[in-house]
Amino acid sequence: MRHRIIVLGAGYTGASAAGRLARRLRRDDVAITLVNAEPDFIERVRLHQLAAGQHLKPRPLAKMFAGTGVALRLAKVTAVDADRKTVTVADANGTEQLAYDTLVYALGSGWNAQAVPGTAEHAHEVASRPGALRLRERLAGLGAGQTVTVVGGGLTGVEAATEIAEARPDLDVALAAGGGLGDWLSPKGRAHLRKVFGGLGITVYEHAAVTAVAADHVATADGRTVPAEVTVWTAGFAVHPIAAATSLRVTGTGQILVDGTMRSVSHPDVYAVGDAALAMGPNDKPLRMSCASGVPMAWQAADAIAARLTGGRLPNIPIRYFNQCISLGRAEGLIQFVTADDQAKPSALTGRLAATYKELVCKGAAWGVANPTVGMPTRRRPVLREQAAAGTTARATA
Ligand SMILES: Cc1cc2nc3c(=O)[nH]c(=O)nc-3n(C[C@H](O)[C@H](O)[C@H](O)COP(=O)(O)OP(=O)(O)OC[C@H]3O[C@@H](n4cnc5c(N)ncnc54)[C@H](O)[C@@H]3O)c2cc1C
Repeated sequence: MRHRIIVLGAGYTGASAAGRLARRLRRDDVAITLVNAEPDFIERVRLHQLAAGQHLKPRPLAKMFAGTGVALRLAKVTAVDADRKTVTVADANGTEQLAYDTLVYALGSGWNAQAVPGTAEHAHEVASRPGALRLRERLAGLGAGQTVTVVGGGLTGVEAATEIAEARPDLDVALAAGGGLGDWLSPKGRAHLRKVFGGLGITVYEHAAVTAVAADHVATADGRTVPAEVTVWTAGFAVHPIAAATSLRVTGTGQILVDGTMRSVSHPDVYAVGDAALAMGPNDKPLRMSCASGVPMAWQAADAIAARLTGGRLPNIPIRYFNQCISLGRAEGLIQFVTADDQAKPSALTGRLAATYKELVCKGAAWGVANPTVGMPTRRRPVLREQAAAGTTARATA
């Protein structure tokens, strides 16, 4: 019987892991199933662009995985039983249980709808395609001078505020940041951010921790009221509750705890990658939710699974950061160079060159996912029967 590998989620990390596994293992030895709720691969890193009215290229998963040996199952994952090694999925035909020998959990994250009172009722989000489309429709209905406040001064908030302000100069766009604007960046990066925000006419509320969202404003901890006919919530992502409902060891926020090979620390047949997992990076700091670390996590997981099944060497490539690529609308960008553990270095690229760089990074990431088995060595090693049964041994530890 073939070793059954199920990959949950066909975002950046699940799709990358499935493609890499298909490239590493023989089709006669493994049955790889990729489960995803939506029929398309969604370029999440561009959802603020979708919200601001731009068109995103459709990327049907069926086309991407045709001929790769990966079976695509379009269904919603509703539960995982990590002890019985089953996954429950639901589609128009009802529910079904799928049995696995190895599971790769890559269900990503969404926005934190319960962050503060009023968020679920009044705020918009750009963490999901439906959310970005709702915001797009809402923005299209706004007239000149109406207020849009983006809550969250992190990468997503900065990208969303600048994209909306550039696309709709007639709107009154603001950003409410818990700290100072871009306070994690180098002095050069911060100065550039301020310059671009100023040029786009974005009002910045700094040290403004938002404590409540209402229909036409947000309230801050220090008593300020910020006008917001539309609030866009970007302050942190939340993972899906499926993992926390299993016997897998998870963090307080529901991310699956994994080792350096992305294997669950409690269940050796389960691997977790991307936003859904918590792995430690350089200097024992947790890797942040991002494609920048999520895709290497997916490669690491796929290579570790292949190594364990075939008796090969475990991968031991530290996952590190090189830069933070930030779009500031279509005409401007900021590439902040960082240390391995994501601390800003003094150097940064700015302006149109940075915008082009960021665009190339987004295109490259999508191309890699859309061509899952291209460009990797074709040498496939046979699965060793006893390894497939035990699922656990390998020649070295990571
Ligand atoms: C607006 C925005 C801009 C960003 N910009 C950047 C950036 O510039 N650089 C960067 O590194 N990161 C960026 N990020 C973060 C990045 O998008 C995420 O870290 C990344 O998408 C995580 O990949 P993932 O595969 O773990 O999850 P996802 O990409 O979210 O994929 C999860 C997949 O699982 C599927 N799924 C979820 N639940 C279920 C279910 N119950 N059943 C079946 N399928 C399900 C989803 O449909 C999806 O296909 C950005 C995020 C946003 C929202």
